[in-house]
Formats: sequence, structure tokens, C-alpha cells
Amino acid sequence: MNKLNKKSIIILTTIIVVIVMVVMGVILFSRKEINNEQKETPYINDNVNDIGVQQKYEEKLKPKSITASVPIFMYHFVRDDTGDYEYPENMVKPETLRAQLQYIKDNGYETIYKDDIGRLEYFNKPVWLTFDDGWEDFYLNAFPLFKEYNMKASYYVITDLIGTPGYVKLEQLKEMKESGLIDIQSHTVTHPRLATLNASEVYNELSESKKFLKENLEIESNVICYPYGSYDDNVISISKEVGYQYGLAMSGGVYHSNKHINVYQIPRIYANRSMSIDTFASYIKQSRVYVEW
Ligand SMILES: [Zn+2]
Repeated sequence: MNKLNKKSIIILTTIIVVIVMVVMGVILFSRKEINNEQKETPYINDNVNDIGVQQKYEEKLKPKSITASVPIFMYHFVRDDTGDYEYPENMVKPETLRAQLQYIKDNGYETIYKDDIGRLEYFNKPVWLTFDDGWEDFYLNAFPLFKEYNMKASYYVITDLIGTPGYVKLEQLKEMKESGLIDIQSHTVTHPRLATLNASEVYNELSESKKFLKENLEIESNVICYPYGSYDDNVISISKEVGYQYGLAMSGGVYHSNKHINVYQIPRIYANRSMSIDTFASYIKQSRVYVEW
């Protein structure tokens, strides 16, 4: 082999080594980027039922865009006997709720809760069932159904009324929280019309109920459910200040991510006693998520 050939081989080998090193460097760097991005996402998996979501999350990055429609139902009581209650329409029969959960199961919809509304890219056909006021009959009549169907629900409690007649007890709340199926959040301390209060009263209602859930149940409540759907700009700004990330209204139909930009004004559908399964289904069928990765 002459001198020139030897030189060529050395140069060629050097070029190949440099190229390989550069390629490996690029691969390692991009992996590091992916890891960093995953760490920065504020998603905390604190629940066995979130494992599926967590797996999807670990496989994928943040989407380029997302367009979603989610039916969010608002319930109050779950009971047969309406007694002499002034608003019997607020009392959904347990058998009606069962038929609704069966419909959700049979048609492949997924119940969401907590702040899933902020990560809809991990769901295909999300439905959110929310229960206001913290009535004990939720624990007695609805919780067993959610366990049976292994489905999720959100439950909004008035913290001053916990343990009083007709309302849920602290031990029952602990049991529901432990199940991983029920998301317990704030519906204020005393259930006032927030838009009629002054700023310090609103602050008190929002922060003290949050504090109660933290101290007694170790729950970080990040969704505020406005009593009577009463809120205004002032209530929204105090909600943000106190640390809530989402606010639930009482009406407005199906949630559309393009239309309902302000997440402190999330609309809900009133699930009343006379709602037929066909009407329920007509809302459910509007659930959809389009994601561009
Ligand atoms: Zn209420």
C-alpha cells in the first residue's frame, strides 16, 4: 500500500468517526429534550385509576392542537323518595343513574374527573359527571354504582355542612377518596351567591373551603363549583388568586374547547329527574376529541 492510499484511509476513517459521533450526539440530545419536556408537565399521578392516562402520557408529548367537545352533567341528589322537597327535579333516581352508567359503558365512553378537562388529549370519548352540594345520598346510592361500574365522578362539597343532617360525613368522604373513583372538590364554605358578596367574603369562601379539604382530606382542590352558578369577573379573579384552575357554571350545554375559552366558565348540563335516557344519550353522543400530535 503506498503512502497516498494510507493517508486516504486515515482521512476517510476520521470522517466516518466524526459523522458517527455527531449522529450519536444528536440522538442523545433529543432524548434529553424529551425527558425534560415530560418532567415539566404539571401532571401528577396520585391515583391508581390514572395509570392508563399516565401510560399514554409517557408515550406521547404535548399535542400541537386539540379540539374537544365534552358533555358535563350536573346532578344534585340521587334518591327515589322526593319527600316534600321543593325541587324534586334535582333528585335523580338511582335506577336512572344506573341506566346512564350502563349507556356510558355499552357505548365506550370514558368518565373523567379532577382536572382531566385540561388534558383531554388522553381521552377519546370523555364524559364528566358532577354532583353538587355533598348530599349523603350520593354516598349511599351513587357511590356503590360508581364502584360497580368502575367509573369516575366529581363531588362538590359545602365544607361547613359536612356531617350535618342529610349531608355527607367526613369518614364517608375519606372512603370515597380512598376508592380513587370520586374526586372531591370545593363548593364553598356556606353556599352563598358569590357574585353578591364583597371581595373579602368571596376570598374567605374560596380559600377556607380549599383549606378544609387540604387539612382534613389531603386534597388539593383545583376546581371551584360556583353555588347557583353565581360568579362574575371579580369571583373569577379571586378564584385564580386562591389557586383554582377551573370554575364550573350551572348551565350552557356541552363544553366545546374552541367556544368556551375561559376555563373559569365551564358549562354544564342539568341532569334532572325527568331526563330520559334518549336525551342523556343525545348529549353523550356529542363527546369527541381531535388531537394533532
Ligand atoms: Zn349547590
